[in-house]
Amino acid sequence: MASDCEISNVFGWNLTEMNTERILSPAAIHEYLETRPAGIRWREWVRRRQYLMTRFHQRSRPLLVIAHFFRDRRAARKIALAIEQDWNETPKSCQDAYDEILFRAPGLIVIQLRQRNVCKCLGHRHPAVREAPFAEPHEAFLGTEIGEIDLAYQDIDKWHPLPLSDSALDAKFLEGSRLEEFHERQFRLKILSIILHEINHLVSPQEDETTVRQRSLTFYRETMAHYAENAISTLSLTIDRSFSRFG
Ligand SMILES: [Zn+2]
Ligand SMILES: [Zn+2]
Repeated sequence: MASDCEISNVFGWNLTEMNTERILSPAAIHEYLETRPAGIRWREWVRRRQYLMTRFHQRSRPLLVIAHFFRDRRAARKIALAIEQDWNETPKSCQDAYDEILFRAPGLIVIQLRQRNVCKCLGHRHPAVREAPFAEPHEAFLGTEIGEIDLAYQDIDKWHPLPLSDSALDAKFLEGSRLEEFHERQFRLKILSIILHEINHLVSPQEDETTVRQRSLTFYRETMAHYAENAISTLSLTIDRSFSRFG
């Protein structure tokens, strides 16, 4: 065992995690999806159902599977971008608030991507997995627990979590003419906060809505403030540079 520890020190790997847990492989899951009976895959193809897999930066679990229709593929990619890149640029204190929740989350989480929910909710946790390929155990899942949530992305796009500070930032970015870029990032950070909110519900179904909501709103407010602060400082740099060209 001593030699194991030495190896772990050289590479900085966490051997305890590596030894006790096998990491889900998106390739193995793709292989499973593509080797199911032709009739099932045909029906899926007709419905144009697709699966995009992603993970939070530097976290082997949970593996998130974005289940979506072909028409929603751009939204699915934006969600993957939020999870992979925006999460990585989030201040450490915001990530820390979800560290324990993500640690305790199911190893695989299916995100059912919808345009809208009939009930008008932005998202739900599902008590059972309904997405067919993930509802039954398979060796590609390595026996991991599977959870499921849904997201209504068009309603999330229209949602104003913090009306006052949102419109104050709108005005700032309008002056800098980078309003579109700002709205894109705002959409992805709203999505990210709702995914974390629903994972929080999956992990602690008993926790009351006010606490769960407070946590996700704080996450949204602080990540937006962090993004805006950085973006505004580069905005003024760009303006300065373009002026200097005339000098
Ligand atoms: Zn609802
Ligand atoms: Zn909730």
